[in-house]
Amino acid sequence: MIKCDSTIIGAGPYGLSAAAHLRTIKGLEVRVFGEPMSFWSGNMPAGMFLRSNWTATQIASPNDELTLEAFQAERKKSFGIPVPIEQFIQYGLWFQSRAVPDLDHRRICRVESGPNGFRVTVEDGEVFDSRRVVVAAGIGQFARRPAEFQSLPPALVTHTSEHSDLASFRGKEVLVVGSGQSSLESAALLHEAGAKVQVVGRSRQIHWLQGWASTTLHHRMGMTVRKLLYAPTDVGPAGISQLLARPHLVKRLPRGLQDKLRKRATRPAGARWLVDRLRNVPITLGCTVLSAVPDGDRARVSLSDGREITVDHVLLGTGFQIDISKYDFLSAELIQQISRVNGFPKLNRDLETSVPGLHILGAPGVYCFGPLLQFVSGTRFASGSLLKALMNTRASG
Ligand SMILES: Cc1cc2nc3c(=O)[nH]c(=O)nc-3n(C[C@H](O)[C@H](O)[C@H](O)COP(=O)(O)OP(=O)(O)OC[C@H]3O[C@@H](n4cnc5c(N)ncnc54)[C@H](O)[C@@H]3O)c2cc1C
Repeated sequence: MIKCDSTIIGAGPYGLSAAAHLRTIKGLEVRVFGEPMSFWSGNMPAGMFLRSNWTATQIASPNDELTLEAFQAERKKSFGIPVPIEQFIQYGLWFQSRAVPDLDHRRICRVESGPNGFRVTVEDGEVFDSRRVVVAAGIGQFARRPAEFQSLPPALVTHTSEHSDLASFRGKEVLVVGSGQSSLESAALLHEAGAKVQVVGRSRQIHWLQGWASTTLHHRMGMTVRKLLYAPTDVGPAGISQLLARPHLVKRLPRGLQDKLRKRATRPAGARWLVDRLRNVPITLGCTVLSAVPDGDRARVSLSDGREITVDHVLLGTGFQIDISKYDFLSAELIQQISRVNGFPKLNRDLETSVPGLHILGAPGVYCFGPLLQFVSGTRFASGSLLKALMNTRASG
């Protein structure tokens, strides 16, 4: 039986960054699995722009060697903010080719307790033992699908994360549900692709980012004040941004305050560049979907404002709900052993679960460390913490 020290499951920003960091530990054998940047290329729409700013779009690497600037210089690419998704995917693939050239693209289909830590099974049947497992498998399995849409067949309702190309809806009538960035950007792309699109959202108002007030404030503030109020991680509003950039501090705050900060920092909001693009898209706010049923090959949707509309397709921009028991590769026995709260794992300061040697990076870490962990800019904290933990273990072992 092959043995290795650490196995990383996932080759998105968190898995790649963690791999780049752990590979700096001499003699540590690290195996890394996953399709590189697959969530970005397969589950987000072509033509999308990243909402995070330039510094927050950097995947953390040791000594900051693998930056967006280094990528641009090496590949002779020129782009600025907002960063187009196509460029970010290329950046991620370049990062992988530099940091993890031996990435194993196969899926891990099972992780269970084993005699030497964990027994890991790869999709083609290979089995090996690993002393440590780092899960960086993202949010792809956590798409939220509200019960109101249960009676619609998959042909009539999909989640935004099921699409990488919205052009296939050209000429169709589409209802987009939700008023956050993902719904609004999908609506803009659908409209531009020639679909007849409308949006309904539960919230009473769309929070546009970088609005008049904050832009004016930014210009007047000057660099020094701006740096004081906003951390480079770009998560959360003025002041709060600095706090959220310190996840170990966030972890020590009272639970109620942590929840409030998380809610405030990740409330549904749209990027300003969408305002003009949505000018001709009807948006109904303060409105919920009461029911949705098939009507021939269309969907009939009843809304809380009394309307009943019939559309070719319903697109759910209803976000994601973390529940690590939905990671289908974790054995039922392991899931049982992981202390959880509402689907989130309880993690210690090394991002380790209650099962020794099993770490979880990325969005599932939000409950313990705050919203930074659901963005690319959280890779610096996550990889740094993991690296420190493993170096300490080796030093003491
Ligand atoms: C529409 C949308 C827009 C976003 N925009 C931004 C933005 O502008 N800025 C930002 O910072 N964040 C943004 N995010 C959040 C973004 O998803 C995360 O920042 C980022 O993807 C987290 O990286 P990750 O490595 O945790 O997960 P992912 O990028 O999802 O990577 C998961 C990896 O795990 C692999 N994997 C999964 N299961 C297995 C398995 N069983 N075996 C092997 N490999 C497996 C996948 O193949 C993939 O390589 C956005 C999210 C959405 C949905």
